[in-house]
Amino acid sequence: MTKHTDTLVIGAGPAGISAAITLQKAGIPNIVIDKSSFPREKVCGGLVTNKTLKALMRLLNVRDPRRLKETFADHSDTVEIYDKNKRLTCSKVSKYLRFVKRNRFDFFLVKQYKSLGGTIYENEKNYQADFSKQEIRLTDGNIIYYDHLIVADGALSVTGAALGLPGQEFSFCIEAYAPKTQIKNHDRTKVYFGIIDNGYAWVFPSGKEVCIGLGGEYDKSVSYIKKLKAFLEQLKIDPESCRIRGAFVPSGKVNDQSSLPENVILAGDAGGFIDPIYGEGLYFALSSGIAAAKSRISSPKSFKNKYLKMMAGHIKMISHGYRLKKIFFKKRIQEIFKKRLGGKDSFVSFYCDNQVSTYRYSYSALFSLYIDYKKRVFIR
Ligand SMILES: Cc1cc2nc3c(=O)[nH]c(=O)nc-3n(C[C@H](O)[C@H](O)[C@H](O)COP(=O)(O)OP(=O)(O)OC[C@H]3O[C@@H](n4cnc5c(N)ncnc54)[C@H](O)[C@@H]3O)c2cc1C
Repeated sequence: MTKHTDTLVIGAGPAGISAAITLQKAGIPNIVIDKSSFPREKVCGGLVTNKTLKALMRLLNVRDPRRLKETFADHSDTVEIYDKNKRLTCSKVSKYLRFVKRNRFDFFLVKQYKSLGGTIYENEKNYQADFSKQEIRLTDGNIIYYDHLIVADGALSVTGAALGLPGQEFSFCIEAYAPKTQIKNHDRTKVYFGIIDNGYAWVFPSGKEVCIGLGGEYDKSVSYIKKLKAFLEQLKIDPESCRIRGAFVPSGKVNDQSSLPENVILAGDAGGFIDPIYGEGLYFALSSGIAAAKSRISSPKSFKNKYLKMMAGHIKMISHGYRLKKIFFKKRIQEIFKKRLGGKDSFVSFYCDNQVSTYRYSYSALFSLYIDYKKRVFIR
């Protein structure tokens, strides 16, 4: 049997499914395929900042975040920053940090798509694609022809490689979960410097558990498992009692999509869209997925061109963050940063609310952020 659809979406993670939901709402025929069946596991700290929440609310036409309460496993209004095991700051933030369990969150989004009448082929492990003919042969032999293709198959993007794109530069993140009862002040969001080079470690509240992880620019000479086990021991958690899992994430060097045909785009991790410093990808997954769908809705003939224009602000932000990361994680800069940060609780609150949570200040505007913070402190 053959089928024709306007847009084929490969990958039903947050990037692909947000594109599909947006297309479905606009009445554009679309089909999603994913190699997994949902609910499925996804290694992720699950941090949802305010900007991600806003993107989610836009996607689902929700005005009151309380309507999404069940989607979240936890929230936190306190951020602590550490140098190894020495606490440098403890700050209240006014923009709550929320946390999801990805198996539940991604399944929730897939259900939203299905409830709109969307078509998803799950567990599609052996489909065959012929991109020159714009066709996909599913495992059961059925063929789908498409006009537009949204590739959202994650950081390792097999599809991106098949389309001829060079591999991305990666970071690597690894994490474990432990019962909350094993950690003091478990409702706080904790960030640790000095645990891993070119990155950071974290402890995030996650329902009845905490998510403990670390990540940074990928270096094949580093044993990430050893580093995480040492970090767990520092927290007085027996590493042998935890299941440890890791995954690659884009490093923040956005994929150059210029060689792709005009009817094909990459979204989410597949496109390299991630915050280079925090490794936060959910915001970019949702934003790029929505942008992909809107580009198809408004400009079917110049789909990729429109998409890259819509993503230009994000791409600029990520590129600046990538350059800053190269400086920020230099050993000498880290030492100065940690020395100066001690006790600056109100600055960390301001930074979290106005940069991490909202991107009100971009990476190229951090000097203005500091000046504005000083003014506020002075005025008070
Ligand atoms: C340890 C760790 C911690 C993280 N913590 C955070 C965090 O706290 N907050 C945050 O915002 N981000 C975090 N991230 C990043 C975040 O997980 C990703 O940026 C986000 O999942 C990207 O969404 P996506 O839809 O692009 O890709 P994915 O979520 O990876 O989804 C890709 C989908 O494509 C499917 N797929 C893969 N290959 C194929 C194929 N060949 N054919 C069909 N389907 C395929 C997969 O089954 C999957 O469903 C973390 C990442 C890691 C590894």
